[in-house]
Amino acid sequence: MRIAIDGPAAAGKTTLARSLAEKLGYLFVPTGAMYRAAALAKERGLPPEKVHIEVQEGGRILLEGEDVTELLENPALDELSSQVAVDGRVRRHLVALQRQIARGRDVVMEGRDIGTVVLPDAELKIFLWAEPEERARRRLAERGGDFQEVLAAIRRRDERDSTRKDSPLRPAPDAVILDTTGLSREQVLALALKLVEERRAKLAR
Ligand code: C5P
Repeated sequence: MRIAIDGPAAAGKTTLARSLAEKLGYLFVPTGAMYRAAALAKERGLPPEKVHIEVQEGGRILLEGEDVTELLENPALDELSSQVAVDGRVRRHLVALQRQIARGRDVVMEGRDIGTVVLPDAELKIFLWAEPEERARRRLAERGGDFQEVLAAIRRRDERDSTRKDSPLRPAPDAVILDTTGLSREQVLALALKLVEERRAKLAR
């Protein structure tokens, strides 16, 4: 089964996708990290629309063969990746890679356009949502910083991701919208596992 998890910045997509993949024994594919790797490539003077990016077990990311996973969490790449993601050539390059990774496999893939563009026929699509203030609080708990600044950065990224021409962030018509405001990670995982079970039962019929 292919599971697509989309949603705005800091909604908990990576956390949910990773734990879901672990529970189910599926491959975890963090596409946000792939856009971050493309932004890192650009910073290094490499062409982000051509660069070699690989996703390994556990969601580790290789850029031209180098494991850059740890570098991708750098907050400077929050903004740079969302700028690089507006470029249609970069999107085409990464979408092709993402489809290739998912071909014939069980995957949990998270991002912004997985249910709408990358895997429009995914068996389960979840759109993860939380109020911007809640997302800012969660980011702050992880990384620290100033609340107003973090909130402003999240709003700026939401705005750019939702208004870009190429593959804007929006729920697929057949996505289940999960509002996680006020819910713990465990509660969100339990809800998602229930959706997987329901979908499996439906597919088995
Ligand atoms: O999810 P994350 O914050 O790591 O993603 C970084 C940026 O990459 C996002 O702000 C978004 O602009 C872009 N992105 C995208 N499509 C995806 C995944 C991420 O445009 N499927």
